[in-house]
Formats: sequence, C-alpha cells, structure tokens
Amino acid sequence: MKLFTNKKKLQREINNINNISFVPTMGALHKGHQSLIKKSVKESKKTLVSIFVNPKQFDNKKDFSNYPKSYYEDIKILKKLRVNYLYKPSYADIYKFKTKNKIFLHKFSKRLCGKYRKGHFKGMIDVVNRLLEIIKPKKILLGKKDFQQLILIKKHIEKNKINTRVISCKTIRDKEFVAYSSRLKRINSYEKKILIKILKVLRNYKKNIISQKIKHDFHMIKNELLSIGVDKVDYVELVDLKTLKKPKKNKFNLFFAFYIGKIRFIDNF
Ligand code: AMP
Repeated sequence: MKLFTNKKKLQREINNINNISFVPTMGALHKGHQSLIKKSVKESKKTLVSIFVNPKQFDNKKDFSNYPKSYYEDIKILKKLRVNYLYKPSYADIYKFKTKNKIFLHKFSKRLCGKYRKGHFKGMIDVVNRLLEIIKPKKILLGKKDFQQLILIKKHIEKNKINTRVISCKTIRDKEFVAYSSRLKRINSYEKKILIKILKVLRNYKKNIISQKIKHDFHMIKNELLSIGVDKVDYVELVDLKTLKKPKKNKFNLFFAFYIGKIRFIDNF
C-alpha cells in the first residue's frame, strides 16, 4: 500500500489510472468500513481509502477533538485488505485550493440530522467534493447507515455532473443488531446494554407500525427511549427511501438519532 499525505504526489501516481474506487473514511476503522473496502477491492482495479477527520462537519469542537483515532491499527487493517492507496491529508492539503464545483445542498439536507447539526452537511459535502476533485474516482462507496449523507452526496454529484458513480453499501451490524460505528469505541458496557435495548424497542416499534397495530407517535416513542436510559432524542422518523418524504405506503425506514451520555448515535433500518 502506498501512503500519500500530499495531493500533488498522489495525483502524479494515480493520474493515468482510470478505474479507481474510493472509500472516504474518518478512520478508527471497524467492520462496517472493512465491508466497503472489501467490496471495492473485489470489484475494482485499484482502491483508494482516505482518512480525514473533517473539522468542518463537526458542530461541536469537543466532539471533534474526542473523535476516536487508531491510525496504526488502521494501517494494519488496510494493508491486510490489500488496499492500493491511502490518502491521509493535512487540513491545508484539502482546504487550500479553489474548487471547480459549487456545493449543492438538496433540500433533504434540512431534514433529520440537518435540523440538529448546524453546518454539518455543508461541511461534509465540501470535503467530499474536494476529495472527488483531487482523486477523480470512477466509483465512490458509501454506507447506507449514513443514508442522508449518501443521498446528499449523490445529489451533489448529479447536480455538478461529476463523473463518479455512487455505490450504496449495506449496513454491517453485530449479532445484537448494533451497527458498527467509530463512536462505539467510546461507550462502556453499561451504555452498550442500553443501546441494545433501544434497538430492540425500535425494531419492535417498526414491526408494529408495519402491521398497523400502532401509528407513529414521536412523543410516545421518545418517552419510551428516555425511560430506558437514553439522555436525549433528536428524532425518530419514518422516511420513504424513494421519495425521501413521509411514507404513504408501508415501504419506509425508521430513522433515528439519540444520545447515550455524550455520544450521539444515528442509524436507520
Ligand atoms: P465514517 O468513517 O464514519 O465517516 O464512515 C465512512 C464510511 O463508512 C461511510 O460511507 C459510512 O456510511 C460507512 N459506514 C460506517 N459505519 C458503517 C456500517 N456499520 N456498515 C456499513 N458502512 C458503514
């Protein structure tokens, strides 16, 4: 695996390769990241992974500085998975150049996490766009766990006619249905138990809505989650994955964001 911290050097290396698949990450790699990377390595000629914790997409400085890091472990994982290139840029390498594309924020950016994390999606699209301008990959692989992010990147790519295909990848979970997440590295076993209980309740809640035993009632479900030990609930919403609106039929995912202690979890299923 070749490591690059400088975009000019990286571009010199990959300029002539027209079949690069790109997996952007913020590091602290887990089984979710690994499944995206494995898919990429299997299906493309070359795989480039980036590790960059983007300060512009954090609305809270402490959250940014506390974001888990495991750089040496990450390198081992990437080598084992036979990744071709790792790009680990500095802040200046990413932000000190003028971009060709304009940030496009589809109106879906105002819903769900967009209501609670000011500037988050703008910062996220900004960095992904810059990475796309530097790397010019044929494909970008993104996880459905961050469905809103995935859709907004897709809309930005379409709007700017960027020549990169978005590949949506399934969410990888442990045997207790907890989606792997870098933030999980910061919770203790008591908090993990709460998280597992919450997921059980939410899966059951979704089942009952589908079988029309109950209707979605945010206040009711919020109070139930709080009673189990969640500290704050940002949202629990049903979204039609095609229209991105409130579902009219039974084809929807349940989207949610909540805090256990100071750690914010998002997921959808
Ligand atoms: P992050 O490092 O959190 O920015 O995530 C990098 C990529 O991995 C994003 O496309 C995420 O959606 C994806 N990802 C994160 N967790 C999972 C998971 N449990 N299963 C599948 N993909 C994931």
